[in-house]
Amino acid sequence: MTKIWANSGDSHLVEPADLFTTALPPEVAARMPRSVKDDDGKHETLYVDGQAFRRRMPRAAMLTDSEGKTVEQRAPGANDMSLRLIDLDQEGIWAELVYPSIGIWMSSIQDPDLLAAGCRAVNDWAIGYQRFNDRYVCAATIPLLNAEHAVAEVHRVAAMDFKAGYLSVTPCLGAPDWNDDVWKPLWAALEETGIVVAFHVGTEAHDAASFHGGYFRGPGGALINYVETTYGGQRAVTKMIAAGVFDRHPDLKVIVSEGGATWGPFIADRLDEGYRQHASAVRPPLRRLPSEYLYENVYASFQHDSSAVKAMTAMGWKNVCWGSDYPHLEGTFGHTQKTLHELFDDVAPADRRRITVGAFSELFPHVPPAPADED
Ligand code: MN
Repeated sequence: MTKIWANSGDSHLVEPADLFTTALPPEVAARMPRSVKDDDGKHETLYVDGQAFRRRMPRAAMLTDSEGKTVEQRAPGANDMSLRLIDLDQEGIWAELVYPSIGIWMSSIQDPDLLAAGCRAVNDWAIGYQRFNDRYVCAATIPLLNAEHAVAEVHRVAAMDFKAGYLSVTPCLGAPDWNDDVWKPLWAALEETGIVVAFHVGTEAHDAASFHGGYFRGPGGALINYVETTYGGQRAVTKMIAAGVFDRHPDLKVIVSEGGATWGPFIADRLDEGYRQHASAVRPPLRRLPSEYLYENVYASFQHDSSAVKAMTAMGWKNVCWGSDYPHLEGTFGHTQKTLHELFDDVAPADRRRITVGAFSELFPHVPPAPADED
């Protein structure tokens, strides 16, 4: 069977438990996100700046090993930048856009200076991966309570050679939304530094009062919540396009990771119809059709979605990337090659290569080229 090589537009680093206590004064570290697991192994509580978020732990996927025993499917390289490369080579994953894990909870911090200090600590640690090997493209965590702190961190991480900035799909709690003019300096700084905006689905800012491990309870809750996490990325992109961000910053690029891909052409159609049919109410007016920004400035990564390939081959959205979601449970660790073959065996080689390798390389041209697929 051919080994298919693919870049991943959606992967994660796992921060060491002592990251904040090592990098920050004790009173600051104590307010940073940390996870405490229950003795029953079924729940965890995330503590963030005096708030507590209790949630059910995802159950580990199980595999049958060569002796027929059931073992936990845990990626050996999840916490180790060197072992991780062995996992990637085995799976056929070349370069990765890597997001934080516990750092995703930074958006629940509500003190701007505390947030900025936490982001600096996460980023100073994360860049070590990228310096270790240029197959890692680390997304810097940007503090999103106000534009001043955000812009300052964008310039700081650009000087450290970060090529991507992780933005939660909503700004931090209490901050204006992505279509608000207060963020204009942030978009300008991101375009100026060439940093790709990296949105990861499911990263809406929560406060402890409204958080109950998801949005919905009752029959079907798990599935309803899983689908619900997807919409935030679509909303973030819609807000940026509608507010004229790409009018002002045509070189700004955005990727929405882990949210599938056929939503792109769908949102483009909705935006164009609204723009045309509701023209008298549309403010600001845009220089180009909204769909043109979606098709050109916006990228998306998916892992298993069979329809995502057709967003490119049948609907013409060239910016569709594959993503492994390594080392998360929704990801493809242990079955990456099977997944890639199921997705791409019937797809023309040039189209396949665009999705597995090309769109990612366009976003991150500094990454060494992926190997050719192997027989
Ligand atoms: Mn992911």
